[in-house]
Amino acid sequence: MEELTFDLVVIGSGPAGQKAAIQAAKLGKSVSVVEKEQDPGGNCLYSATIPSKTFRESILALTRFHDRRFADKSYERGSVTIQDLNKRLHQVILEEKDLVIRQLRKNGIRVISGKASFEDPYTLSISNLEGKSVYKITATNFIIATGSKPRNPSNVPFDGKIILDSTTLLGITEVPKSMIVLGGGVIGAEYASFFAALGTEVTVVDRRANMLPQLDTEIGVHIQTALVDIGLKFRGNKEPEEIGKHDGRAYVKLTDGTTLTSDVLLYALGRTANAEALGIENAGVKVNNKGYIIVNALFQTNMPHIYAVGDVIGGASLASTSMEQGRLAARHACGSDIHYFPVFYPVGIYTIPEISSFGYTEDELKALGFHYEVGRAYYYEIARSHISGDNLEMGMFKILFHAETLQILGVHIIGRGATEVIHIGQVAASFNAKISYFVDQVFNYPTYAEGYRIAALNGLNKIKLPTLK
Ligand SMILES: Cc1cc2nc3c(=O)[nH]c(=O)nc-3n(C[C@H](O)[C@H](O)[C@H](O)COP(=O)(O)OP(=O)(O)OC[C@H]3O[C@@H](n4cnc5c(N)ncnc54)[C@H](O)[C@@H]3O)c2cc1C
Repeated sequence: MEELTFDLVVIGSGPAGQKAAIQAAKLGKSVSVVEKEQDPGGNCLYSATIPSKTFRESILALTRFHDRRFADKSYERGSVTIQDLNKRLHQVILEEKDLVIRQLRKNGIRVISGKASFEDPYTLSISNLEGKSVYKITATNFIIATGSKPRNPSNVPFDGKIILDSTTLLGITEVPKSMIVLGGGVIGAEYASFFAALGTEVTVVDRRANMLPQLDTEIGVHIQTALVDIGLKFRGNKEPEEIGKHDGRAYVKLTDGTTLTSDVLLYALGRTANAEALGIENAGVKVNNKGYIIVNALFQTNMPHIYAVGDVIGGASLASTSMEQGRLAARHACGSDIHYFPVFYPVGIYTIPEISSFGYTEDELKALGFHYEVGRAYYYEIARSHISGDNLEMGMFKILFHAETLQILGVHIIGRGATEVIHIGQVAASFNAKISYFVDQVFNYPTYAEGYRIAALNGLNKIKLPTLK
């Protein structure tokens, strides 16, 4: 067994771990990343963000989803195969993996293969595939970035073929004719919309009344309508009682006595932290009642030299937020200046159509008693939308702003380009811009971004301020 010492050891090479390691190396520290899988990149690269977003892009391109309004030729449902989708997926994974490896190497970070487990608060034992301890590593600081995995209850017969989770879904070999998606959260809604766009008969079941209930209510109504429009069925207020397989098909018995059947079932009812196999009890690190590692605002655990970032601490659980948490934790561990994690950050939901937002929803503003106003722009008012052949019945910008100070309080967008153009509003809000800023600027024309200007004009027209002409 080899003994090694570093200033900082990062456990896990997903987005949180990568950014933490690179930041610490840039600050002159000796850094190692320990990764239990064969290649670095994390679940993000091999089973989560990158595969799902590559699938989406391939489906849009291969089904010519956005081109359907340009020609009478309609796309033939069922003509795109999983092999077509996988070809692109493997290419993207390869390219991204190379990028990760190059960045880690360029910054002099030592990547160690093996499963990390704490022996005590300052020592990690790294074991190989056979479970044999091959390295003992001591360090001044540790950053735990071990991510999460699908929460799969033992009474559900997962088999990687008929009953799937978001990881094993990537192993299917044929586009299913029908699919039940249990869970109308982000992962369920995204995959449901991808397969519906591919021509699969998709039924989403959720115990809540609507899919994606965290959305601003108005945006929620739009997405529900848009998803039904691409062929998806939604069964809300339904509770699954039993999930199983019969005659090579999946079934789910609901508590209302009905049974749904389909070729495959995607179980998308939450994720769980990868904290249990880390030996954190030997390090004295505490978890909450859901198994997530407890951290303070600087991402320190109750053991101040051990930090935790990314999915393993719960909360936002996005690749985007994980990266920034990793960077901030590393800066603090290295004694460098940091800011607190931003209160407002954008959230992107890559359903078809996509959604992005930051800040307050209208219901939150009401509950908090804000004197607010709303500016709206519909995609049919945006020239770029007509030119690009978008579904003009759907899509909107919604800007919430303070009715007296005009401060931007939230932006919610549904429609093509939403996950890109959201950053314009985010940047404006982070500089405390007023909604009038969007009126006073010239926007490229024709663009989706122009929606900000149209929404701002709409909002400002509703209020009478002495300063406004
Ligand atoms: C289907 C799906 C789609 C998603 N889409 C998006 C999206 O569009 N945008 C977005 O921002 N986020 C998205 N996410 C969320 C995003 O993937 C996660 O938030 C992100 O991967 C978390 O990064 P992380 O670094 O915390 O952990 P991970 O990416 O989970 O990586 C953790 C790493 O730690 C390693 N590890 C675990 N235990 C050990 C151990 N004991 N020793 C050594 N190594 C260990 C694992 O092998 C893994 O490589 C999606 C998630 C899913 C499931």
